[in-house]
Amino acid sequence: MAAPAFEPHCIFCKIIAGEIPAAKLLETDLAVAFLDINPVNPGHALLVPKTHHSTLAELPDPYAAHLGELLPRLCRAVVAATRAEGFNLVVNNGRAAGQTVDHGHWHIIPRLRGDSVHWPWPHGRGYADDELAQLQARIQSALGA
Ligand code: AMP
Ligand code: ZN
Repeated sequence: MAAPAFEPHCIFCKIIAGEIPAAKLLETDLAVAFLDINPVNPGHALLVPKTHHSTLAELPDPYAAHLGELLPRLCRAVVAATRAEGFNLVVNNGRAAGQTVDHGHWHIIPRLRGDSVHWPWPHGRGYADDELAQLQARIQSALGA
């Protein structure tokens, strides 16, 4: 599997290349984790694949598997170090979802009861008629495509 090219205008590629500093937490051959520079809560960490893929949907399986394996250990460390009561694991994909850095990444956000984070997001109405079954069929079909 050929790794995608380094993207010279990408802030995370620059961090990975050592061109700009970051408060690194862990580093492997395929991934790096560092503290978010504008944390939602103190200890807010980012887990980032070392190759440039704009969203997680483009991430090749070996990277996805490796980062998925790192996540629980990183989450445990963030929670222990911040004495958090919980954490949110968030991935924004695309502008519509609030992504601002187009190099797919996981946010690990430590949480305390009563902190200033507004979560959960609002849930909408239920499904009408056969809408649920239609969506189920369309997603199943896309999975097979
Ligand atoms: P997203 O909005 O999901 O794309 O998240 C991008 C995150 O990257 C934001 O939470 C930013 O605060 C964070 N960020 C941007 N630049 C840096 C940087 N140089 N070092 C650490 N975190 C950064
Ligand atoms: Zn990048």
